[in-house]
Amino acid sequence: MMNRQGRPTAPGEATAGATTAMTFTGHRGLEHEEPLLFELGDPGRSGVDLPVMASASNRLGGLERTQAIGLAGLSEPEAVRHFTRLSRKNYAIDMGIFPLGSCTMKHNPRLNEKMARLPGFADIHPLQPESTVQGALQVMDVLGHWLRTLTGMPAVALSPKAGAHGELCGLMAIRAALEARGDARSVVLVPESAHGTNPATAALCGYQVKSIPANDRGRVDLGALREELGPDVAAFMLTNPNTCGLFEDAILEIADAVHGAGALFYCDGANFNAIVGKVRPGDLGIDAMHINLHKTFSTPHGGGGPGSGPVVFSEALAPYIPVPNVVHGPDGLRLVEQVNETDASFGRLTAFHGQMGMYVRALAYMLSHGADGLRRVAEDAVLAANYVLAGLSEELTPSFEGPCMHEALFDDRFLKGTGVTTLDFAKAMIDEGFHPMTMYFPLVVQGAMLIEPTESESKRTLDEFIAAMVSLARAAKSGDVERFKRAPALAPVRRLDETTAARRPVLRWLPEESEEAAR
Ligand SMILES: *Cc1c(COP(=O)(O)O)cnc(C)c1O
Repeated sequence: MMNRQGRPTAPGEATAGATTAMTFTGHRGLEHEEPLLFELGDPGRSGVDLPVMASASNRLGGLERTQAIGLAGLSEPEAVRHFTRLSRKNYAIDMGIFPLGSCTMKHNPRLNEKMARLPGFADIHPLQPESTVQGALQVMDVLGHWLRTLTGMPAVALSPKAGAHGELCGLMAIRAALEARGDARSVVLVPESAHGTNPATAALCGYQVKSIPANDRGRVDLGALREELGPDVAAFMLTNPNTCGLFEDAILEIADAVHGAGALFYCDGANFNAIVGKVRPGDLGIDAMHINLHKTFSTPHGGGGPGSGPVVFSEALAPYIPVPNVVHGPDGLRLVEQVNETDASFGRLTAFHGQMGMYVRALAYMLSHGADGLRRVAEDAVLAANYVLAGLSEELTPSFEGPCMHEALFDDRFLKGTGVTTLDFAKAMIDEGFHPMTMYFPLVVQGAMLIEPTESESKRTLDEFIAAMVSLARAAKSGDVERFKRAPALAPVRRLDETTAARRPVLRWLPEESEEAAR
């Protein structure tokens, strides 16, 4: 059976080829097939009957609704069950390991949640008088202090709301600094292994993006970088450790070359988890770096909550960072638009001050670990990744020689001639109960599989993950292609039409359009 969106509703089609028996209901044991809210409840079938008002005037001034609102008519238990059933189809960091490389999917300690829910943090409003939110301002002040200390950078902007937003903040400050010295430059250099947000950010800021190739050690080709550096280059954006999970060991030479050409050095700090407490980016010559609080500092990720991407800045960029900033005044902490007279901020990046809930969670994480604990985080994250690298090196093909930092990168050479692709392999991992690793990224290796276990997984979990991966690799090599092409056979839905979903996304349910889309 197909529902109105054209999705199969019965397990017979949803899991064709799987061993599940057809059921009358379409449910699979206690896992229910779940239609959309609108498919569950017809508009108008409401749980409440209100008497029709005889005649009453309203104060909507002609703006009252003239048509039925069209909400699905559902009782409270029906609505609650709908969302509970949906949540059971989801995979989450609270259910199992989330080995997505470049994402640092670590455990969010429940202490963070307890702190973030304190009414003095959760129930405040950004327009409240400063005297009534001194505690919240103190959280921002102390968080900023920790970020500056951990990175060895003198200035911080807390307001960016994600890593990509932090990149935008960094490049806007760089542009403001260059314009202030009357030196409009037009090019931003980005390594070819960079996360897609780097070139996207540079392009959004109006820069021409030029790609710098990697050398055969998976690091930036310094010679190629030197060739591109010239008077038109505004900035070089580097990720360190990079997206191959490798430390850019020529970073000091890179910084000198960038500064020597009059450009500024941006670092994508998404992989800070590998070096937090061990290396201070400020000592490496970096001018601006965003930090994803939702990666390194454990605040919830993706669908779990908003991100937060504070940016730290060097002396050279400090006058140009966005406003407002927290300062200490005679009557306590204040948010000000100008700290020093010479400041030439590019303005505001967001309407208010950023993600308060994320600040509280990140600071709770920092304070509960302490400086020594944060260093252990980096050490254990790198150890876990190398444990996975070593455990899989015989059956899979590591892309580069030697140890890795916080994530292990493999390519698809081990699948050569098997008929199984990286995508098939990832789908088979779902049947084994694992969220797949990052696939086909970074683009510098063929059929990439990027695995980041983080420090918060136990050895037992890593052993089970490694054993499952090894068994899948052996199955692929032994010619069991069918199992991979069929996968996932045990998931609520199987392979989705990702191309159509991306090209023609149907994001809103409308009675007629949805029926049309289903055809
Ligand atoms: C996650 C990530 C980003 C983007 O961060 P968001 O918080 O998702 O916007 C940028 N670069 C790298 C290397 C990343 O891993």
